[in-house]
Amino acid sequence: MSVLIVGSTALDSIKTPKFENPRLLGGSASHAAVAASFFCPVKLVGVVGDDFPSRYFQLYKRHRIDLEGLQKLPGKTFHWSGEYEANMNNRRTLLTELGVFETFSPTLPKGHQNTAFVLLANIAPSLQSHVLDQMVRPKFVAADTMDLWLNIALPDLIKLIKRLNLFVLNDSEAHQLTKEDNLFVALKKIHQLGPKYVIIKKGSHGSLLSGPDGLFICPAYPLHTLIDPTGAGDSFVGAIMGCLASSKASVDKNIRRAMIYGSVVASFCCEGFGLTRTTRITPQQIAKRVSELKKLTRF
Ligand code: AMP
Repeated sequence: MSVLIVGSTALDSIKTPKFENPRLLGGSASHAAVAASFFCPVKLVGVVGDDFPSRYFQLYKRHRIDLEGLQKLPGKTFHWSGEYEANMNNRRTLLTELGVFETFSPTLPKGHQNTAFVLLANIAPSLQSHVLDQMVRPKFVAADTMDLWLNIALPDLIKLIKRLNLFVLNDSEAHQLTKEDNLFVALKKIHQLGPKYVIIKKGSHGSLLSGPDGLFICPAYPLHTLIDPTGAGDSFVGAIMGCLASSKASVDKNIRRAMIYGSVVASFCCEGFGLTRTTRITPQQIAKRVSELKKLTRF
């Protein structure tokens, strides 16, 4: 089965303490789509401007990503710029130029509406809902978000959360949403908003899943060198959805395993700027890190 992914398709200018890289391919949907493409066919829904470099279209195509739902409009591609502090954990947004995103209202091609797995990657919750409105009985719907939407579009986000099978957010967003410091209590409160599964990401400390089978603690792959963590969260959830869609097993049976694959793909993302490392991952490299994580957590 395939995954439909909607989110931002962006040009990212990223500064770290050592390097600076302008106008790389980025955006939540780009990271998630490339990550998912290692597991199953992907349909990308987004918008770019007429300044979008043709080499980035080629990159999507090399990953066999279906671009029928990617609109190209006159104007500028969404441009985001961020700067990391020395610890590489704290990041501040330097610039957000919406460009063609400002008026984006995705209309799904007919053939996309029956896709079984849907990932609503980080964009405005009203747009995420608009895409979901066009889907015909999807089997499994997941969404990611960011602090911006908790600040400026909370009612829209709450409406969306009700309709999800899986909601993914990071620890500080979980705190912001529930006003809870204890993540286990926060998980319970988020379930009360609707979703069967909730995942809280904790950066280099891994992630927590809460679902009908209780809790699962998923490790992050231990990295010694971090080049650029931009998009790690999107790669994580993209790989999870790709893994779920590619398996004959039910989501209930497969979701823990899918999170391990998510952790592994996210670890590669952090080892290069933008998508530069992710796009070069081989299936053998994924398998090696998965078995290393197995060894690290067995007792
Ligand atoms: P992450 O590192 O997982 O938070 O994701 C970073 C990605 O999110 C970058 O590639 C950005 O292009 C994208 N991004 C940043 N701000 C926004 C926004 N307001 N809406 C959608 N995507 C964004």
